[in-house]
Amino acid sequence: MVTDLLKEKKEAIEKSSQEYGMLDEGTVRLLKKEEKEARTTVYHRLARQEPQCGFGELGVCCRMCYMGPCRIDVFNSGGPQLGVCGATADTIVARNLLRETVGGASSHVEHAMEIAEILRDVAEGKLEAYKIRDTEKLLSVARNLGINTENREISEIALEIAEASLEDLYKLDRKPSRWIEKYSPSSSFKKWSALGIVPTNIWQPIVNAMHRTSMGNDADPVNILLADLRMGIVDGYGLTMATELSDVLFGTPNIIHSYANLATIKEDYVNIAVHGHNPALSEKVLEWAEKLQERARAIGAKGINIIGVCCTGNEVLMRHGIPLAANEMQAELAIVTGALDAMVADFQCIWPILAQVASCYHTKLITTVPYVKIPGAIHIEFSPEKADEVARRIIEIGLEAYQQRNPARVFIPNHPEEVYAGFSVEALLGILKKVDPEDPLKPLIENIANGNIYGIAAIVGCPNPKTRKYLFSERLIKELLKNNVLVIVTGCIAHIAAQAGFMNPRKIDEIGVGEGLKSVLKALGGAAGLPSLPPTIHMGSCVDNSRIGVLLKAVSEKLHVDVSSLPVVASAPELITEKAVSIGTWALALGVTVHVCPPLRVLGGPQVADILTRQLRNITGGELYIECDPEKAAKELIRKIREKRIGLGLRA
Ligand code: SF4
Ligand code: SF4
Repeated sequence: MVTDLLKEKKEAIEKSSQEYGMLDEGTVRLLKKEEKEARTTVYHRLARQEPQCGFGELGVCCRMCYMGPCRIDVFNSGGPQLGVCGATADTIVARNLLRETVGGASSHVEHAMEIAEILRDVAEGKLEAYKIRDTEKLLSVARNLGINTENREISEIALEIAEASLEDLYKLDRKPSRWIEKYSPSSSFKKWSALGIVPTNIWQPIVNAMHRTSMGNDADPVNILLADLRMGIVDGYGLTMATELSDVLFGTPNIIHSYANLATIKEDYVNIAVHGHNPALSEKVLEWAEKLQERARAIGAKGINIIGVCCTGNEVLMRHGIPLAANEMQAELAIVTGALDAMVADFQCIWPILAQVASCYHTKLITTVPYVKIPGAIHIEFSPEKADEVARRIIEIGLEAYQQRNPARVFIPNHPEEVYAGFSVEALLGILKKVDPEDPLKPLIENIANGNIYGIAAIVGCPNPKTRKYLFSERLIKELLKNNVLVIVTGCIAHIAAQAGFMNPRKIDEIGVGEGLKSVLKALGGAAGLPSLPPTIHMGSCVDNSRIGVLLKAVSEKLHVDVSSLPVVASAPELITEKAVSIGTWALALGVTVHVCPPLRVLGGPQVADILTRQLRNITGGELYIECDPEKAAKELIRKIREKRIGLGLRA
C-alpha cells in the first residue's frame, strides 16, 4: 500500500517536472539535458515540494518562539484561531511580512554601503583599483544632497558624499536621513512625516523591526504595517544610494547595443559568467578579461567572452554592452550548455544548486563574498583592496577550465536576440532634450496627457518557476504594450523582456505595440538615431528601480501632484525574493499600485490584506493588487491607470 502510494507520488512528480508548458524549444532541450546529465532541474525540485504548505503560503505560520511553530486555521475547519501566546492570524501575517521586508531592505542597504565605502576610500586616495568615472554625476549627486560643489576638488566632494551616505546608516540625531529626504518625492515625504515613519537612520528601523516582531512584542497589525512601510522607505534608500554611487564610480549608463539569451555563450571562446549584483567585482573581471585576451588565444580559443547573469548581467550590459545571457533561474542552464568555463558570483540570488550542477561539468563556480559561501564552490575572497588580484585569478581559473571542456557535451540553443539597453534617467533626458532642449520632460508629459502614452508600468523582479511555464511576464507586457502603456523593465524581468525580443527596436511592429505608443517610441528613437526606442525600456538592475523613483520625483514635482495621482503602476509578476517584497513596499509607500504574483503571503490575515489592498489608498495612495492570470492582471492595471487619468482630468 505504502509502496504503491510512493510510486504514484514519484510518477506524479516525474510528470509535473516534465511538463514544459509554453517554454521555448531551446530551454526545454537544455532542461532535458540537465535532467539527464545533472539529475535535477528547477521544475523537478519544485514538483518535489508540491503541494506547498498552505499555512506558509497564506502567511499564518509563526516560528518566532519555541512554544511554536504555530499555525492558524484560516479555513474555519475547527483548528486553532490563536497561537500558543495568543497571537492572531493578522498579528502573525503582519510580523512575517515585516521580517520579509527587513530581509530585502538589508540586502539593498549592505549593497549600497559597500559601494559607499569604495567611494570613500577612492576619495581618500587609499584605493587605486577604482576611480571616479563620472564627475558630472558626482556633482549632480552632491547638489541633490545639498553638498557644496563650488571651488572644491572632486575628491573633497566625493568624500563628503561618501561620509554623508555612511552617516545616514548609523547617525543618532533625530533628523530625517539625508538621502531619504532629498531623493524622495516631496508629496510622499510629506505623507510619511505625517505618519511618523520617516527613518532618521538606517540601522534603527532594522533593529526595531526584528525586536518588535519577536515573541511578546508588537501585536497590533496596523502598528506593524506602519513599521513595514518605514522598512520599504529604508529599502528605497538602499536602492537609490547603490545606483547613484555606482554611476559615480563606474559611469552612468547610456544607450547601448548588445545581445541576449544563452546563445551569447560562444562555443569557440573561453566563457566566463558574472553573476550577482555588485558591479565592484564584475567591473574588474571585465578589465582583466581584456588584459588576458592573448592568453585565451594562446590556448586555442578565439578570446574571452564575458556574459552577464542576473542583476550583475544588467549592470555590465548597461555600462559596457556585455551580453545579457541568463536570468537568475537560467544560471544553472548556462552551466548545462557545457560551454561555460567559470561562473563568478558576488551576492544575492546565487542558488546553492549551482555548485551541484557545476560539479557535473568542467565549469568552476567561484564565490567571492565572505558572507556568501556555497559548499562545493571555489571561494576566493574579494575585497576592493584585492580587486585586481582576485579578478585576474578568476580569469585564470576560466582559462584553465576551458582546457578541460568536453566539446561532445556542448549544446548552445537558439540564436542571440538583439537588445538596446542603458536607459538611465540621464540617457532618457538626453533623448527628450533633442525634442525639447529647454524643457525635456514636456514631450513625455504631453504624450501622457494626449493619451499616446496611456500610462507607465514598471515591470520588475524575478523569474519564478511557478509562473515561468506559462510566460506570465511576456503575456502581461504584451497586453500592456498593446494598450499603449509604456513599459519599463528592470532586474530579471529585463532578461525575460530581452529574450522575448521586447528590447529590440526592429521588432516594434511585430510585437503588437499600440499605435499611440508606437508613434512616440519611433519619434524618440529617431531622436536617438535608432529606428525606434525598444518596445520596453530597460532601466537596469533591481537596485536601479531607484531610477524610476528619480523619474517619479521629477514628474510629480514638476506637475505639483502626488505620485499616487500619476497614471503609473508597478508589477512584480513572478515574485521570488524578499528584495522584491521590500521594493514593492517602497513603491506602496510612494503611492503606487503594486501588482504581484504569486500572492504576497498576507491573504491569511483578513485585516492586513484589507489594509494593503484597499485602505492604503487613503493613506499613502498605494495599493496592493494580487492576480495570477496575466491578461486579467493587465486589464485591471489598465483600469487603474484609467482611474488616475480621470482623476487628473485627462482623456480616459
Ligand atoms: S513553518 Fe510554516 S511554511 Fe513551514 S511547514 Fe511549518 S507551517 Fe508550513
Ligand atoms: S510567538 Fe506565539 S504564535 Fe509565534 S510561535 Fe511563539 S507562541 Fe506561536
